[in-house]
Amino acid sequence: MILLDGKKTSAELKQEIAADVEQLKKEGKKVPHLAAILVGEDGASQTYVNAKVKACKLVGFESTLIRLPAETTEEKLLNEIAILNIDNDIDGFIVQLPLPKHIDEQKVLMAVDPDKDVDGFHPANVGKMALNLPTFISATPFGILELLDRYDIETSGKNVVVIGRSHIVGSPMSILLAQKRKRGNATVTITHSRTKNLKEITQKADIIIAALGIAEFLTADMVKEGVTVIDVGITRIDDASKKSGYRLVGDVAFDEVAEKAAYITPVPGGVGPMTIAMLLKNTLLARSRR
Ligand code: NAD
Repeated sequence: MILLDGKKTSAELKQEIAADVEQLKKEGKKVPHLAAILVGEDGASQTYVNAKVKACKLVGFESTLIRLPAETTEEKLLNEIAILNIDNDIDGFIVQLPLPKHIDEQKVLMAVDPDKDVDGFHPANVGKMALNLPTFISATPFGILELLDRYDIETSGKNVVVIGRSHIVGSPMSILLAQKRKRGNATVTITHSRTKNLKEITQKADIIIAALGIAEFLTADMVKEGVTVIDVGITRIDDASKKSGYRLVGDVAFDEVAEKAAYITPVPGGVGPMTIAMLLKNTLLARSRR
């Protein structure tokens, strides 16, 4: 079994991005500037945003974090977005999800200038992605493609099963892997909560992307020998032995599945760090396009 080490691969990616930033500086050009809007106090969201800001510092990007209280109105948030849209110094920005219930997420994502939408969530960018046109590919599927690429895992002609059909992971992942592209050309089956006989489907998969958010859902009896498993899930489980009081668990029962797998991502240290690295890559791309 070979561990698909997202921590190590993302560190390499960040070094490459840092070298690009150094080059921009040498040429007297502006360095990329990423902004993030965080609404409310959700613990996981704060952790993710802080990790993104830290990653910006590491590669030499400028970063701006805009914190808004949980009771922020939709109008106020849309106003903040309008300001970032026209701020010439900002190359790209993200609105950390999920948003409080009183705010219409779709309306917010639609308000982001597609040219600054480094999360790739705006319908214009999702449409371009689906048509295989140049755009910002959202960071998690983009990171999975990059991880498959760096470990030289063949996808062409393979049976890929994606578990989960969310707009941010499962759905784009299934589209990208089926496209005529590097790390594409796969025969993709997308499965979800209404899928019948999931085990029969996953047992035939050469590659499984698990993105459903149920801890240790994919068990050894559901996979064949030699499978490649990409675990996107992140669930916090109470654990008194940890300083934080919790530990992170993926959608895959790692120990038992690893015994049958040829390649597998760990949680943490797999897809998560890749997601952050690809957000930086999209921001660099946004800078170069402007
Ligand atoms: P989501 O929570 O929006 O949707 C879950 C999907 O799983 C749905 O499409 C549903 O139909 C499907 N599903 C639910 N139960 C199922 C079952 N029994 N069998 C088959 N399918 C089932 O999904 P999401 O936002 O993509 O998040 C999924 C997980 O990935 C979460 O744990 C989330 O925290 C994690 N995540 C991680 C990263 C990362 O960077 N590593 C990024 C995004 C999401």
